[in-house]
Amino acid sequence: MTGRMLIIGAGEAGARAAMALRENGFAGTVTIIGDEPHLPYERPPLSKSVLAAESEPAAPFIHTEARLAEQDIAIVHGTEATSIDRAGHTVTTANGAIFPYDRLLLATGAKARRLRLDGAGPDNVLYLRTFREALALRSRLMPGSRLVLIGGGFIGLELAAAARLRGCDVTVIEMAPRLLARAVPADMAARIAARHEAAGVRLILGAGIERIEGDITGHAVLLSDGERVPCDGIIAGIGAVPETELAEAAGLAIENGIKADERLQTSDPDIFAAGDCCSFPLALYGGRRIRLEAWRNAQDQGNHAARSMLGASEPYDAVPWFWSDQYDLTLQIAGLPDEGSETIIRDLGDSSEIRFRLAPDGRLLAASAIGPNGKIAKDIRLAEMMIARRAKPDRGALGDPNVKLKTLFLAPAGQS
Ligand SMILES: Cc1cc2nc3c(=O)[nH]c(=O)nc-3n(C[C@H](O)[C@H](O)[C@H](O)COP(=O)(O)OP(=O)(O)OC[C@H]3O[C@@H](n4cnc5c(N)ncnc54)[C@H](O)[C@@H]3O)c2cc1C
Repeated sequence: MTGRMLIIGAGEAGARAAMALRENGFAGTVTIIGDEPHLPYERPPLSKSVLAAESEPAAPFIHTEARLAEQDIAIVHGTEATSIDRAGHTVTTANGAIFPYDRLLLATGAKARRLRLDGAGPDNVLYLRTFREALALRSRLMPGSRLVLIGGGFIGLELAAAARLRGCDVTVIEMAPRLLARAVPADMAARIAARHEAAGVRLILGAGIERIEGDITGHAVLLSDGERVPCDGIIAGIGAVPETELAEAAGLAIENGIKADERLQTSDPDIFAAGDCCSFPLALYGGRRIRLEAWRNAQDQGNHAARSMLGASEPYDAVPWFWSDQYDLTLQIAGLPDEGSETIIRDLGDSSEIRFRLAPDGRLLAASAIGPNGKIAKDIRLAEMMIARRAKPDRGALGDPNVKLKTLFLAPAGQS
């Protein structure tokens, strides 16, 4: 097939989609437009190895320039796409260039949610979404620096771990009564909280913030209970908002992200969406519409959108999967842990455990695991495969660490 494939967003999903177009035999032009000044790079290391690096780190690029050139993938970076002319099949960029397309992929990602508080502004609150922001943050992680992290979600907690490793004095302020309230079971979140406290992080949970104070002599966060937390830097990790502006202006359907169908096609048949910006129905969960902010989802959807752009008709059906590393602990989640009505816990030994969520009919819907140094990876992988095949494993066997998970996986689909 020939023609013009255009991708907006030079991130995980966009970079993967471009490569997948070639891997699926597309011989026409492939162009990626990205507004950041770099080639596409991985974001997960930004809150982990990039912050922990002893010397100035390089951007964790996804593909080298040579690899992109070899695949004849054109990258226009440092340029924002500002409008889509759907009738004319063109995209215009901030510098006035016009790019025609036959099929367009929106892989515009998400942006860090901004803190709306009295006194909070660009001079005293930092965020972490881009490599440039990671470098700015890293330069603040000096031994003895007093940092306040607002938000006890994944980014805030990974940052807290990295900052402690660099010898900072860290306070995490979270509005909810516990950490990771949205995505992680309460007992597991309590274990993560304990690990942070053991590392010397001060956790202030269930806290309201009155306002931010800050000038060149220092900053402070004022809590609703009257406490004033003085600090040298404030970083907000309060979630991300899908980047939908361009799609919205072009009249595409939006529903907590750019609305796509099961093939990742938007309300315009020539425009597709993938990654953090995309909301889509997941057949595995009865067509529940979700949006995922996860690395593997961006990869898998990049691959899938490329095939759909080339005319394939299969639905996107991957099991959601997410991981986080904090200190020596790895957390991995397969499936949607807010689904299901029953929890079964399996002790994996060496202070690792996996929690399964089952539907009333016994179907496995999700598995969340935590443990040191990636020990949990194999079991989560097996759980993920069982979720994909809609397995109904025997409850007793699932909770019994003496029964190998592999034997449950090998049982016929839909049976114990
Ligand atoms: C600090 C950090 C740590 C993370 N850690 C983990 C982790 O441990 N595990 C995990 O599973 N996931 C993690 N994630 C999430 C994961 O990185 C994202 O889900 C993934 O990067 C999403 O890829 P994407 O291509 O959809 O979006 P992005 O990677 O955000 O790429 C979108 C790109 O599009 C650009 N863009 C937007 N609008 C325009 C426009 N109009 N014109 C041109 N360009 C545009 C953006 O600037 C951006 O470069 C982390 C994310 C962050 C920020």
